[in-house]
Amino acid sequence: MAEEEVARISVAVRCRPLSEHERSNMVQSICRVMDGRLVILLDPGASAAHDYLRQDKSKEKRFAFDQAFGPDADTKTLFTATAEPLIKSVLQGYNATVFAYGSTGAGKTFTMIGTPVEPGIMFRSVEEIFKGVATVVDEGTESFSISCSFVEVYNENFRDLAGNSDREGILDLREDPVSGSYVAGIREIQTESVQEVMDLLQHGNQRRTTEPTAMNVTSSRSHAVLQVRVERKGNPSNPSGSLLGKLSMIDLAGSERAAETKNQGVRLLEGANINRSLLALGNCINALASGSHFVPYRDSKLTRLLKDSLGGNCKTVMIATTSPGHLSYEDTLNTLKYANRAKNIRVRAKQNLVTPDEHVSQYEHAIADLRNEVAIL
Ligand code: ADP
Ligand code: MG
Repeated sequence: MAEEEVARISVAVRCRPLSEHERSNMVQSICRVMDGRLVILLDPGASAAHDYLRQDKSKEKRFAFDQAFGPDADTKTLFTATAEPLIKSVLQGYNATVFAYGSTGAGKTFTMIGTPVEPGIMFRSVEEIFKGVATVVDEGTESFSISCSFVEVYNENFRDLAGNSDREGILDLREDPVSGSYVAGIREIQTESVQEVMDLLQHGNQRRTTEPTAMNVTSSRSHAVLQVRVERKGNPSNPSGSLLGKLSMIDLAGSERAAETKNQGVRLLEGANINRSLLALGNCINALASGSHFVPYRDSKLTRLLKDSLGGNCKTVMIATTSPGHLSYEDTLNTLKYANRAKNIRVRAKQNLVTPDEHVSQYEHAIADLRNEVAIL
């Protein structure tokens, strides 16, 4: 029997340190983290910088999350507390998702992808998966197959960050009866080592669509999704079939409004699309948090892809990233409100047990899909 677990989405906030540039420009820090779960935001209002340093409590906004990390917390600490517990679940055949949400410059890419010195959640998770697999393989008779895909949602289109650009036109979302939404036509890479995945990540990240905007020259206008699939054979809970775990890790594009980045022309269209995806994400979070029966997943590519991760068959961690500076007050407040709403979302994760029969039915689905494609061509 497949195990099932009902839980809420786990929401963590990470407030990055002020940058050197911000310090030298007298940017004041208005975001404080207490007790590992409280975030306190001071309203700078329209007054001068020294006003909020008086710590007027009436200007404070307090939020409580599952976890909160201040400027001193490194990514390893964040990883250990948020994503690491999910890895065990993935090896047991569950779906899990970690996504970073926040405005441009708040630290999403730093948290998810990171740098060679401070590797992000994606690297650390994959490393942990390989470690976990090695331990089980050493112990007994089980075998694993691990595959990865890396895709971006840009302008409401999918782009394969691991594959050839000439296949981009045919990428679209499909539903798999066992593992949920997936991007059809995408390159699935069988991987044997962490290094291979890292190469995929580095290579793919360089291919990401980044455009200069007035707000941040390296601002990414795309959502990047790394998915790692782990198929486990020979487990006593399903000896004749397999356990199918999937870990999705998402570095979202900036959540700020298009108007604030002074975008025009093409860039505005991209901004509108990014907002469409993020607006849809917000609407889905609202609907799920209020227990509404209708959730508008179909309104954007991003929400269709994340359907399982939000309120479906998945264990989900949201990492809301915030900038500490007083100039980011509105964005930070929006992010914290958003994250606060997401806390109410319930998910129902169940172990994905694939029996030999289901394998056959999966192939039948795949064949039906291909027939449809041929009919359209
Ligand atoms: P985003 O992806 O949200 O637009 P980035 O991850 O690119 O933002 O972060 C913006 C800048 O801040 C980068 O230069 C990054 O290295 C730095 N940064 C972000 N988070 C941290 C952190 N926790 N510690 C140190 N530097 C950080
Ligand atoms: Mg980024």
